[in-house]
Amino acid sequence: MKRALVCGAGGFIGGHLVNRLKSEGYWVRGVDIKENEYGNTNADDFVLGDLRDPRVCEAVMEGGFNEVYQLAADMGGAGYIFTGENDAAVMHNSALCNLNVLEAAHRAGVEKIFYSSSACMYPEYNQLDPDNPKCAESSAYPAAPDSEYGWEKLFSERLYLSYQRNLGIQVKVARFHNIFGPQGTWTGGKEKAPAAMCRKVAEAPDGGTIEVWGDGKQTRSFLYIDECLEGVRRLMESDFSGPVNIGSEEMISINDFAKMVIGISGKNINIKNIPGPQGVRGRNSDNALIEEKLGWKPSQPLIEGMKKTYAWISQKVEEKSLVEQD
Ligand code: NAD
Repeated sequence: MKRALVCGAGGFIGGHLVNRLKSEGYWVRGVDIKENEYGNTNADDFVLGDLRDPRVCEAVMEGGFNEVYQLAADMGGAGYIFTGENDAAVMHNSALCNLNVLEAAHRAGVEKIFYSSSACMYPEYNQLDPDNPKCAESSAYPAAPDSEYGWEKLFSERLYLSYQRNLGIQVKVARFHNIFGPQGTWTGGKEKAPAAMCRKVAEAPDGGTIEVWGDGKQTRSFLYIDECLEGVRRLMESDFSGPVNIGSEEMISINDFAKMVIGISGKNINIKNIPGPQGVRGRNSDNALIEEKLGWKPSQPLIEGMKKTYAWISQKVEEKSLVEQD
């Protein structure tokens, strides 16, 4: 039986990845500084531990692993990453996790390690035109990410690839573009745009108004979690190291995205654009490389994943309001 270690298994993507690996017959250990809050707790073994501590990283490798997935990071949506207030924490915490997990995996003789980078590492100068952003893998340099989160991702991509070159451990690097779905952060300040949009719409009364950050003309693409995991697994099974985009090419303006969620809810809701942290003006995945190397592209349109996500978040909103009424 193959053994996999998922670092960040208490989080959104890590929790879903544990389920995916279990469904493929792996024995899985998860590790995170917190439990998975959303019920994705199917790991054979789950260790509560701080990966900034090299002793914890060494200890979780015990028993040996064929594959390690390093997803642990200090991260959040625009309200966490783009305000500047959390820059030191993001860089310090994520860099330590990445350094320690990789070194421990190398020492423990792990065959393959996956690292989750982000589209936030792409240069801002290629993402100023909302209708024509450029995010081909080859456009990463000269580097100019618009956030410290992006700079840390770039550093860690290079760190992982240098271990492959110098020390022989197989490395796989994916650049995720806005992954969303049920069982993820939907409130509290670290939620990302799809979850925030669903929550705002679910909380608004019929005939009410939701606030959307920026002028609403900024563009993004969003990828449903199951599609992301299919890309991750294909990358892991291939002889290609990346870095490679795992995202959707279905670009949408933020106001049109809000209208999509409103349409799913069936309510009549107005949009009010207000100043707020936005990140780059435009971003879209470029899937030419992943299609060529792994034959992968998303299998369903954005709206299908958003229907499932809205259903899950509106239920959470309802449960919360029932608790508050008690
Ligand atoms: P998440 O915040 O839900 O999961 C990250 C997990 O890492 C959390 O459970 C957190 O507790 C854990 N963690 C943080 N510091 C830790 C520490 N010191 N020790 C142990 N665990 C620690 O985020 P996610 O959306 O699941 O993202 C997973 C990975 O994918 C992250 O590396 C993120 O940067 C990357 N990524 C995600 C997206 C996205 O759209 N969700 C986009 C690009 C990249």
